[in-house]
Amino acid sequence: MDIHIAGGSGFCFGVRRAVNLAMQAAENGGRRTVTLGPLVHNPLVVESLAAKGIRAVEEVAGDADVVIIRAHGIPAPQMESLRRQGVEILDATCPFVKRAQKHAKALREEGYQVVILGDRDHPEVAAVRSYAGDQAVVVENADGLPDSLGPRVGVLAQTTQPEEAFLRLIQRLVPRAGEVKIVNTVCRSTAARLAETEKLAHRVEVMIILGGRHSHNTRELARISRLAGVDTHHIERVHELQGQWFRNVGQVGVAAGASTPDEAIDDAVRRIRSFEKPFLSCSPTSSRLRGPGTPPPPLT
Ligand code: SF4
Repeated sequence: MDIHIAGGSGFCFGVRRAVNLAMQAAENGGRRTVTLGPLVHNPLVVESLAAKGIRAVEEVAGDADVVIIRAHGIPAPQMESLRRQGVEILDATCPFVKRAQKHAKALREEGYQVVILGDRDHPEVAAVRSYAGDQAVVVENADGLPDSLGPRVGVLAQTTQPEEAFLRLIQRLVPRAGEVKIVNTVCRSTAARLAETEKLAHRVEVMIILGGRHSHNTRELARISRLAGVDTHHIERVHELQGQWFRNVGQVGVAAGASTPDEAIDDAVRRIRSFEKPFLSCSPTSSRLRGPGTPPPPLT
């Protein structure tokens, strides 16, 4: 069985930066340090931070000295409230997410109605929206645009949105507003990972997508892989892999979301390999043992 890993799998720049900041804080020790919400959307990372004494909390209630801001960022009022509480803030918001927040604020200040393409319930979108003003709208796709829009619209996207979805939204917006200001906030690393995953999905028989179930970019990888028509399994933890998925399969692809640690990818590959042995079977046309995916010998 051949196992291929999609290019760009694993920690992206923003997640690596956030995890490094949190790990440094853990090493400094001595102070009560928490993350406001999970640092990234991957339970393995959250558990490994908890093991080092850094808990994820939903609210900071006087029991923390240092608060680490998640890679997705937090809404402006929440940041203000932390400042008022006087806790030390370690801002691990990805710089690309920060850029989207700044553009949302600038568009609002320039008088545009801000339209954000994104997952309404995602923390990154909630944070960006908080900078975009009361008139801002979040749409999950081009069909979600409201009937009435202002004459001047500024549009941006959640960083992990597919570029095609952003383009579709822009195409719908242009005929509907007198002025449309477009800010491309789609993260290049997300776009590249999606493209690599799609390419690989067309070459293999089974795709394993590794990453948090709440991770938007991981769910997008699974979606694009299924669209390629390949048997696709999205797993969060390696023990979810099932041997039967690889029966008689010769080419397996593995792609991992931006918050999946490299060790988890290595573990997944090892686990998939471990399924090879039990399926050694006698070929109906030969007495030789063959593994899954090995073409049967020619008929004689
Ligand atoms: S996917 Fe892009 S925007 Fe999101 S955390 Fe990673 S580098 Fe930042």
